[in-house]
Amino acid sequence: MPTPVGQPTPVGQPTPVGQPADDVCTFCAIATGRLPARVVYEDDSAIAFLDIRPLRRGHTLVVPRVHVVDLAAEGAGEAVAAVGPALQRTTRLLLERLPADGVSLLQANRAAAGQEVFHLHFHLVPRWTGDRRLNDWTSDTEAGGALDDLHDQLTEPRV
Ligand SMILES: [Zn+2]
Repeated sequence: MPTPVGQPTPVGQPTPVGQPADDVCTFCAIATGRLPARVVYEDDSAIAFLDIRPLRRGHTLVVPRVHVVDLAAEGAGEAVAAVGPALQRTTRLLLERLPADGVSLLQANRAAAGQEVFHLHFHLVPRWTGDRRLNDWTSDTEAGGALDDLHDQLTEPRV
């Protein structure tokens, strides 16, 4: 059943697969360009953009363009496969351009696991040798303060 226009999707009530709900879903709105984001990579199936509440400098979200709520939803298997190239390209970007020593991949399904936006997404979190453990999801205010400069660094064309 489609989500009625203008009404938020109730938590736990998935919007049907492939049905953009960009009036109610932040990530659908970003994927269709209706909401701005600091995009660092995109292709036909996925879009990667800087998290506005980064856990680390360069924390990036990778999102399938198709609306799938979480890994348990219908169509999630196909959506995961479709974001594979974007995950690889974005990981390489962060390793090379920041540069980072490593990248952690985090992913949450449903509120109990920490999911806040109910459109399947993957967190790529840059890591540096000896950095503090990722044992909570508190954003790093220093990293969140220079997003435009960081966006330029990651998207500036290379010769
Ligand atoms: Zn969505």
